[in-house]
Amino acid sequence: MTQPAHTALPLTNERDEAPWDVGPDGDKLGEECGVFGVIGARSASAMVALGLHALQHRGQEAVGITSYDGVGDAGDFFSHRGIGHVAHVFNNQDIFADLPGSMASGHVRYSTTGGSGLRNIQPLFADLATGGFSIAHNGNISNAMMLKRDLVQKGSIFQSTSDTEVIIHLVATSRYPTLLDRFIDALRLIEGAYSLICMTPEGMIACRDPLGIRPLVMGRIGDAVVFASETVALDVVGADFEREVEPGELIQVDHKGVISSHRPFGDNPARPCIFEQVYFSRPDSILAGQSVYQSRRQIGVELAKEAFVEADIVVPVPDSGVPAAIGYAAESGIPFELGIIRSHYVGRTFIQPGDGKRHAEVKRKHNANRALVAGKRIVLIDDSIVRGTTSLKIVQMMRDAGASEVHMRIASPPTENSCFYGVDTPERSKLLAARMDLEAMADYIQADSLAFISIDGLYRAVGHSERNPSCPQFCDACFTGEYPTRLTDYSAQVTAGETEG
Ligand code: AMP
Repeated sequence: MTQPAHTALPLTNERDEAPWDVGPDGDKLGEECGVFGVIGARSASAMVALGLHALQHRGQEAVGITSYDGVGDAGDFFSHRGIGHVAHVFNNQDIFADLPGSMASGHVRYSTTGGSGLRNIQPLFADLATGGFSIAHNGNISNAMMLKRDLVQKGSIFQSTSDTEVIIHLVATSRYPTLLDRFIDALRLIEGAYSLICMTPEGMIACRDPLGIRPLVMGRIGDAVVFASETVALDVVGADFEREVEPGELIQVDHKGVISSHRPFGDNPARPCIFEQVYFSRPDSILAGQSVYQSRRQIGVELAKEAFVEADIVVPVPDSGVPAAIGYAAESGIPFELGIIRSHYVGRTFIQPGDGKRHAEVKRKHNANRALVAGKRIVLIDDSIVRGTTSLKIVQMMRDAGASEVHMRIASPPTENSCFYGVDTPERSKLLAARMDLEAMADYIQADSLAFISIDGLYRAVGHSERNPSCPQFCDACFTGEYPTRLTDYSAQVTAGETEG
């Protein structure tokens, strides 16, 4: 239901959710998200819906759009949020008539079990002393629990279990007079990853955390300024790419289109998430000037150099393994074939809370191309192994279809560590590579052989001659365990013996 945004936060009739940050099965509350915002456009909310549609792969559980109609205090905020895909929640034109104005922002989101529910759907909104404030966040704040505890003790009343709401309370309680200074004051207290699109009556503020862990780009369409998680969303709305929002940069755009850039955190070496290159971003996006498709294809080339195996065909696990499989085939000389056909009516398997559901989804999603596979030696290529669910099923599927040998090659190093920055990985004990060595993993997924690309091979593929060990060019903590920020909440849980994540 579309509603004025000031009623968007409190939702008293919702079911109680699992305690802050921890789902019923012990998984942390992680979020994978996409954000999109535009200022200075007619039908801004409809453009946001289109942009979010292009970012649907970043989160399939819920979507929300908030718009602002008017200029300065004379205007008002409106919001529409719901559970489901963009096309499902924004399923008729009348909704956009209820989201008027030339400024709007939106968010697609996925959360683990325990974090679902209307009250966590973004953009979040609050009426502050400085006026209305909406916020859409991609990333994860790694000291949100600690900050929340402190804020609650001082009297803040939280309406959601989302870490993003901490930012609103920090802005609300800051002693600086202007919104911008309060916002910067709040960000100084935050650890972790954040790409944010905020709206106030004065305009839009987009910003990226000091290390630029999550992506955020800026574009233009006519006089309008657009911000999006990925360039593919700019393409889809017809905007021209202007530049990336730099790590640690805040860009303010007012209703007249005046743009100002602020760098309150100084200059830090960037540490963008390498998993965006491996899996998370769409292959038709450009990240840091590099085509994601080309990077993935090159990962396949490097993988073939590092882990060649005699076989009859190279088969990708669709869609995530396709570009790497093309690279592997080109480098190895083994023909690329679609030995697995994917149903396009099932979404990303991983982005479904709950293990039971995920098992069923894998089966519905992929089917062996029997005629092609029977009697063949197969190199299967996928982007990553997390819990091992997909690999186990796919290897079995190839054998059931008559493959004589099945060799698994993975276009990323073993995922041994949880992500605390907004790519949802389960707690460490559920990661196959944290539980087993290579041989045991190959045994578990029942492959004739298994190999992962090395971390240096991955860095070569994405354009660096090697990983700089003293200051890695990316955040690669999921592979190396080297986290680029403090992990205050996690450390506190470990000290209290609450998690093994
Ligand atoms: P699993 O079945 O748990 O081993 O997960 C591996 C599969 O999920 C791979 O085919 C990947 O394409 C996909 N995947 C890996 N990491 C993620 C993630 N963080 N979010 C969504 N999908 C993922």
